[in-house]
Amino acid sequence: MPDERVEASGRDAHHGMSAHEVVLLLETDPQRGLSAAEARRRLGRYGRNLLPAAGGGGWLRRAVRQFHHPLIYVLIAAALITAVLREYVDSLVIAGVVLINAVIGYVQESRAEAALDSLRSMVRTEARVVRDAQERRISSDQLVPGDLVVLEAGDKVPVDLRLVRLAELRVDESALTGESVPVAKDETELPEVTPVADRRNMVYSGTLVTAGSGTGITVATGAETELGQIHRLVGAAEQLATPLTRKLARVSKVLTVVILVLAGLTFGVGVLRGQDPVDTFTAVIALAVGAIPEGLPAAVTITLAIGVTRMARRRAVIRRLPAIETLGSTTVICSDKTGTLTENQMTVRAIWTPEAEFTVTGSGYRPEGEVRGSDGSAVTEASDEALRWSLLAGAACNDARLHEEDGTWALAGDPTEGAMLVVAGKGGLDPEAVRHAYPRRETITFSSERQYMATLHDERGSDANVVLVKGSVERVASMCRAQLGADGSSRPLDSEAALAAAHELAGRGLRVLATAVRPAGTGDGFDERTLPGSLTLTGLQAMLDPPRGAAASAVRACHTAGIDVKMITGDHAATATAIATQLAVLDGDHHRGRVLTGRDLDALPAERFPEAVERATVFARVSPEQKLRLIETLQQRGHVVAVTGDGVNDAPALRQADIGVAMARTGTEVAKEAADMVLTDDDFATIEAAVEEGRGVFDNLTKFIVWTLPTNLGEGLVVFVAILLGATLPLLPTQILWINMTTAVLLGLMLAFEPKEAGIMHRPPRDPARPLLTGALVVRILLVSALLLGGAWWLFQWEQSRGAGVAEARTAALNVFVVVETVYLFSCRSLSRSAWRVGLSSNRWILVGVVLQAVGQLAITYLPPMNAIFDTAPIDGDVWLRIFAVGIAAGAVVALDKRLRRRVL
Ligand code: ADP
Ligand code: MG
Repeated sequence: MPDERVEASGRDAHHGMSAHEVVLLLETDPQRGLSAAEARRRLGRYGRNLLPAAGGGGWLRRAVRQFHHPLIYVLIAAALITAVLREYVDSLVIAGVVLINAVIGYVQESRAEAALDSLRSMVRTEARVVRDAQERRISSDQLVPGDLVVLEAGDKVPVDLRLVRLAELRVDESALTGESVPVAKDETELPEVTPVADRRNMVYSGTLVTAGSGTGITVATGAETELGQIHRLVGAAEQLATPLTRKLARVSKVLTVVILVLAGLTFGVGVLRGQDPVDTFTAVIALAVGAIPEGLPAAVTITLAIGVTRMARRRAVIRRLPAIETLGSTTVICSDKTGTLTENQMTVRAIWTPEAEFTVTGSGYRPEGEVRGSDGSAVTEASDEALRWSLLAGAACNDARLHEEDGTWALAGDPTEGAMLVVAGKGGLDPEAVRHAYPRRETITFSSERQYMATLHDERGSDANVVLVKGSVERVASMCRAQLGADGSSRPLDSEAALAAAHELAGRGLRVLATAVRPAGTGDGFDERTLPGSLTLTGLQAMLDPPRGAAASAVRACHTAGIDVKMITGDHAATATAIATQLAVLDGDHHRGRVLTGRDLDALPAERFPEAVERATVFARVSPEQKLRLIETLQQRGHVVAVTGDGVNDAPALRQADIGVAMARTGTEVAKEAADMVLTDDDFATIEAAVEEGRGVFDNLTKFIVWTLPTNLGEGLVVFVAILLGATLPLLPTQILWINMTTAVLLGLMLAFEPKEAGIMHRPPRDPARPLLTGALVVRILLVSALLLGGAWWLFQWEQSRGAGVAEARTAALNVFVVVETVYLFSCRSLSRSAWRVGLSSNRWILVGVVLQAVGQLAITYLPPMNAIFDTAPIDGDVWLRIFAVGIAAGAVVALDKRLRRRVL
C-alpha cells in the first residue's frame, strides 16, 4: 500500500514542483510553447487527447439488463417447467423468444446509445494553445503533454494543466470533486501530499473556467488525466431514461405484478376446481405473456432516439434526452438577439463625434470602403481628432483579429470588435501599427454586467500612458466629464446630445457603442473605481447586424403554433425594438408595456412583476440575474420555457430553463455544458425546427402506445374469458409470443418513422399536465380490444362448429389478431385524420413492414415445420375471407369512431 502511494505521487506530483521544474521536466517553454514539429512527434507518442471509450464491462451489464424484467423471469420459468413436462418444442420456442427478445433489446439499446454518442462529437471543442510563440485555436484532441494552453472564462479545461500564469482564475471543479462552488487558483508550489481537490496550482480536464484567465502547461492528456482515471473506473453509464420512459417502465412493472398475481390466483382456482394442472398452467402462461406490455419502454426509447437523430439532422443537438419530451410542450422561447435572431455579422455604418457625423461604406470584414463626411467626401482620421481617437479606441481596446485567407477576410473574436477593427482600417488606421504605437499594459475585460472594456496603453516615445474605453453609451457617457472637439480640444460633456444621437442611431436598428479616452497625463490608477469622471467622450460607432434570413418566418411559425417569442438582450432598448419589429417579434406600433428595460424591471412592484413579464416581448439591457428571474417568473405562471444563452453568466438561466439552448459556434463551453440542446448553426429557426420535431416525436410515441395496448388487452381478455368459461384456449402461449414479437417489430415500430402530421405547428402546445392518453384514446383502445376479443372468439368457435380441428381454429384466431392489428396500424398513423387522407406513400416503412408480416403469416400458417413448432395448421381460402371480413369490420368501426370524435371536438 505505501509503495502504491509513492508511485501514484510520482506520476502526478506536478503540483509539488515549481513551475520551472515542470517546464524542465516536460521539455517545453513557458513563453513560446512547443514547436509544431515537437507537438506532432508527441501526438504520435502519447496519442490524441480523447477519453477512453466506455468501460469494457459495459456490454455485459447491458446484456444482463435485457433479462431483468419480471416477464422474462416468468418466461424462463415457463421454459424450464415445460421442459420438465417434456414439452420440448414449447420449451425451446419460449427460450428462443427470450433470447431473441434480449438480442433485439440489446441491439436497439446499443444503437440508441451510439446515436447519442455520435451527437456528442458533433459539438467539437477547441482549445487555445501557444506553439512556436503563436497563440492559435486547435481542436482539443490535438493537445499533447508540454503544450502551453491558454484558458479564459467560459472555457472547459481540455487537459490537466500545471498553471504558470493567471489572473483571478476561478474554476468550477464539480465534474471532478462534486463541489460546485468555484475555487480560486494560484501558481505557488504545494506539498506533495495535497489531495486533488486542494491543488490550487493545477486545473483538471473537464472542469469549467468561471472567471479570470490563466495559462498552464499540459501535464496529462486523454486517459491519463484525472477525469480519464475516473472515467475508466466508472465507465460512462449514460442513461437513456426520461421522465416518460421512467413513468412507463413503472406502469408496466405494476401491470406485470398485477397480472402475475391474477395469473397465480387463476391457476390456484383452476387446480382447486379440478382442472388439469398442465392445461391450466399453459393458460396462465398465455395470460401473462399476452397481457404484459413488455416491449413498451423499449419502443419508447427507440422512438425518442429516432427523434434525436432527426433533430440532429436539422442542426439541433440534444444533450439531455428528457428535453425531447419537453420541447413539444414549449410555450415560450426566450431568445438572445445578437447571433441568434441576427447574423452577428457587424459592420459599422455611422460614426458620430461631438462635432461631426460620418457615414461608412462597404460591408463585411473586408477592409474596403471609406469613411465619409457630411458632404459625402472621403475623410481619414487625420482630419478630425475626435474621429481619430474614436477609431483608435476601437482598434486598440480590442481583442479580435482579422486575417485574410484565400481572398476572404475571417474574424477571430467578437464580431462587435471585428467591426471596429474594420472601420479603423477604412479610416486610415492600421490596427497592427496602432498596437505597435500603443502597446497595451493592462485590461479591464468586457462583461455583460460591466458593459464596457478599458485598456491601459503606453504611448511610444513618451513616458505617459493613455486609457482607451469602449462600451454601451449609457455606461461610457456616465464615466465621462468632457468630450473631444474636432481640433483636439476638450469641452464639457453634453450628455444629452450624445444620448439623443445614440437614440436616433439605435432607432434605425443599429448597435451603438461609445468610445472614450483618458488622455496622457490626465489621471492615474487603472481600475473600475478610478475611471469614472476621468474620461473624455470621443464618439459613437453604430453598427448594422442584419436579422437572420429565416428568423422572421420562424418567429411567425412559433406564433401560429401558440408559442410566445421573447427577446432578451443586453443591447439598447431602441436597437432591440427596431430589430424586434423587423422580425415581427413585436408587431404594430403600440409598444407600451411590450418593451421593458432592466431598469423598468427593477422599478416594478413585486405584485405587478409577473403580469408585466408575461405581457412584454422585448427585454433590453437585462443582466443575467434578471434573466434568471424572468424565467422563474414565467415558469411560475405555468409556462414551459426554452431559453438561449452563450456566456458563463447564462449558465444558471440555462439550467433553470425547461430547455436550455446553447450556441455551438459562439457559445462558451460553460453554456454548452449547462444546456439541454445545442444549436450547431446558432440560428433561431433551428429552435423552431426542434420544437416541431419534438411535437412529432410525441405524436409518434402516442401513436405507438395507442396501437400496441389493444393487442395486450385483447390477448389477455381472450385467455381470461377462456379460463373463466373453462373453454379451450383460442391462442396458445407460443402463438401469443409470435403475435407480440412479430407485430411489435414489423408493424408497431414503423410508426416511429411516421413523418410529422400536416398542421403540427398550427395547434397549441401540448399541456404537460395532460395525460398521454386522453379519454378519447382510452375509449379507442378499449374498442379495439373488444373487437379483437369478439373477432377471435367468434371465428375460433365458428371454425370448430364447422368441424375444423383446434389447430386450424387457433390459426384462424391468430390471423384475426394480426389482420386487425394491421388494419388498425393504418388508422394509428394519424390520431385524428382518417387513414385514407394520410396516404400510403408518406411512410414506406409501413408498407415494408406489412409485406414482411404477411410473409410471416403465410409461413406460420402453411409451412409444416412452423406448424409443428407453433401448433398451427393450414387453413382454406374461405377462412381467410372471414378473417378479412373481421378486419374490414374492425377498420370500419375505428374509422367511424374517429369520424364521430372529429365531429364532436
Ligand atoms: P447582446 O449580446 O445581447 O447584444 P451584450 O450583453 O453582449 O448584449 O452587450 C451589452 C452592451 O455592451 C452592448 O449593447 C454594447 O453596447 C456593449 N458591448 C458589447 N460587446 C462589447 C465589447 N466587446 N466591448 C465593449 N462593449 C461591448
Ligand atoms: Mg453579446
